[in-house]
Amino acid sequence: MPLNILNPYADAIFPAPPSPPSARASFQGGWLKGNLHTHTTISDGSRPRQEVIDDYAQRGYDFLMLSDHDVVTAESDYAALASRGLILIPGNEITAHGPHLLHVHARARIEPDPLRQAVLSAVAADRGFAIVNHPNWQEKFDHCPLAKMSEWVGYVGLEIYNGVISRLDGSAYALDKWDMLLSAGRRVWGFANDDSHAPGDVALGWNVAYVTDRSTQGILDALIAGRFYASTGVVISDLRVERDTITLRADNAQRIIALQQVGKRFAAADGPELRITVPPDAKYVRFECWGQGEQFTWTQPFFIEKT
Ligand SMILES: [Zn+2]
Ligand SMILES: [Zn+2]
Repeated sequence: MPLNILNPYADAIFPAPPSPPSARASFQGGWLKGNLHTHTTISDGSRPRQEVIDDYAQRGYDFLMLSDHDVVTAESDYAALASRGLILIPGNEITAHGPHLLHVHARARIEPDPLRQAVLSAVAADRGFAIVNHPNWQEKFDHCPLAKMSEWVGYVGLEIYNGVISRLDGSAYALDKWDMLLSAGRRVWGFANDDSHAPGDVALGWNVAYVTDRSTQGILDALIAGRFYASTGVVISDLRVERDTITLRADNAQRIIALQQVGKRFAAADGPELRITVPPDAKYVRFECWGQGEQFTWTQPFFIEKT
């Protein structure tokens, strides 16, 4: 039976040359790097908003969302700050009374109702979208139980990597829950965020999105469509889908693996390139690129439909 591979990167160009600041006015499309989870002294972060923005800008980020606990950083707040060339996305981390949720592109403050489905519906009615945060934080590695994520509707994805958890209890990674959700047929994207509270938490994990319009809307469109990958350091150099094969290249990867439902690894290569044939029984396939130290990149899933 022929397979229809839903390629989230179909509209992206590999490789895309980096867009230097001088070219921003004539931006035609490219890969932009950003972090959507950041704290400042407005909640429990150690530095004021401007200092945090300056830090990310100096590190070459393209977009940033300040997401203090139950406080919206709105467009009007950003207007009082210097953007330093960053696209600043209004945000909030809905925190009290339940598992934490990012409200991306927030306008209104959403009441942290213990009934999180009500929160997700309120986010959808405001604007923007929700991401489930650090599912495997805390002593029992279960800040956000799989049962909740299976039951809820209306969120775009989850943090498969959350930087600050690497110095706290539990696991920074949530690939296990992601594969279980994907295997159950949920179409949710994987995000990597710093959740930075202090300078040492900055630039641990980020998202690289292929954006055609260098604006907040351009970034949101790419994230919602899954036209991005989550990274802690490996850069995807090329990705091609031809008939039932997918070829992935990441120049600084030392190993690339391919997985299908229930997290089953079906192919691997020790080196910067892996070419796979999509298994006939695959419901989705996704790739992990492993580099030096704790450098990874996770592609979004390619959902497979039988035609
Ligand atoms: Zn949190
Ligand atoms: Zn946080």
